[in-house]
Amino acid sequence: MLLYSKVSIPLIKEFKTSFGTQKVRDALILILMEDGITAYGEVVTDEDPAYGYEYNYTALHLIKKYLGNLVNPERDPVSFNERAQSIRGHEMAKAAVEMMLWDFRAKKEKKPLHAFIGESKGKTETGISIGMAPIDDMLASVGRAVDEGYRRIKVKIERGYDELIIKKIREKFGDINLSVDANQSYTRDDFKILEKLDKYKLAYIEQPLRKDDLVGHAVLKKKIETPLCLDESIVSMNSLRNAIELDAIDILNIKPGRVGGISSSLEMMSMADQNGIGVWIGGMLETGIGRSFNISLASQKKVKMPGDTSPNSRYFKKDVTKEVFHMDRGFIKPMKGNGIGVELDYQYLKTVEVEGGRIID
Ligand SMILES: [Mg+2]
Repeated sequence: MLLYSKVSIPLIKEFKTSFGTQKVRDALILILMEDGITAYGEVVTDEDPAYGYEYNYTALHLIKKYLGNLVNPERDPVSFNERAQSIRGHEMAKAAVEMMLWDFRAKKEKKPLHAFIGESKGKTETGISIGMAPIDDMLASVGRAVDEGYRRIKVKIERGYDELIIKKIREKFGDINLSVDANQSYTRDDFKILEKLDKYKLAYIEQPLRKDDLVGHAVLKKKIETPLCLDESIVSMNSLRNAIELDAIDILNIKPGRVGGISSSLEMMSMADQNGIGVWIGGMLETGIGRSFNISLASQKKVKMPGDTSPNSRYFKKDVTKEVFHMDRGFIKPMKGNGIGVELDYQYLKTVEVEGGRIID
């Protein structure tokens, strides 16, 4: 039986990026109950198509009408991926189903997911991503993150909110591991602004230009010393290959829920690793369900940089899972239980559920 639950969880603090300001996380959770196993998936779409063309409505529709029927009797994620190629795009909807099947298979084999999918380090270095805020608030947030032991601090920037904030952070906190994420807010006319950021010795600048401007990123990479990290531009193995061949990338941010799931994330990791591209695992404000998948991937040996995998308590007063992640001196360990190792707290889920029901009997 395949069920879904759409939940609306208020964020502790609104999260501002160059895309807009988010106050709640409207998450779509999948639940597969079979053979005494309960497996989960989480679609990383939101209520509106602001980040991309997919959103909760299209994802649920796709899963109900097509993707749910493409799951084979063995619940095998690899053959699901092959079958799902008959549907164009919609990688976020596909990823949620695919990841749920990996959880199911790992639980069936009685293994934790991080060990089931590859070579695990058993822990991951944790970074933090801080949304845009007035300068004093931003400096206070960075200070708290430093005290809490985060191993990399990333701040969101956009055109007009960039050099000054970086300068202030460097002045106050010195040589911390600092990076910035522009979420596509610059154009090719802004290279002079981006060149000026070199002197702050950032670990990288993430996705400065529009996602479809790989050539622009290649041109920019030759002009700046700061390593260039791509996020939204990399949607598939093909776009990663293109970015590498164009020399438009130094570092890759893999968001498993955005790039089609675990198989494609592992393939991207290998390709990046073979080509000397640094890799870290990003996130999309997932609940404990999606977060556990991300931490399992971030624990893989090929991931050598801290990711955006903060504990859930940073975003939600209360998460929908019974188990929550804790950070210890900048490291997080994947859950010990089988599969993703977290269970839904159904009692709490009912209080935040907006809609839910059966997809397949
Ligand atoms: Mg990003």
